[in-house]
Amino acid sequence: MKFHTEYLTFNTEKHRTYINITDKVAEILVQSGIQEGMVLVSAMHITAGVYVNDAESGLIHDIDDWLEKLAPYRADYRHHWTGETNGDSHLKSLLIGHQVLVPVTAGKLDLGTWQQIYYAEFDGQRPKRVLVKVMGE
Ligand code: ZN
Repeated sequence: MKFHTEYLTFNTEKHRTYINITDKVAEILVQSGIQEGMVLVSAMHITAGVYVNDAESGLIHDIDDWLEKLAPYRADYRHHWTGETNGDSHLKSLLIGHQVLVPVTAGKLDLGTWQQIYYAEFDGQRPKRVLVKVMGE
């Protein structure tokens, strides 16, 4: 089995945002030369996430509203006793999950028709990394 590892860096303008990274992951897959296997896409942070879903803009707003409802910004998180202010960002990351595994078949991401890979930033405006590890033959 071969492995090919690369890192994507994001420094978002907004505190919270959702970025479609499917094309970037597909490019790395092509560079790897791997035909059959899988790609691990993993946020290297505790206040960001990676997920697979639709690229429809209304849905992205719905996801953001849903996360804010379940894990709202608040001043009174215990985490803030440390001087941090991003308690909600950690909780949003846990809800979305920090990594996905995408199948590779015949040298391509084997995603369903509407499946896209997203980086979800919950505490941006500073450089943050995503690991992309292609594994296979
Ligand atoms: Zn924190």
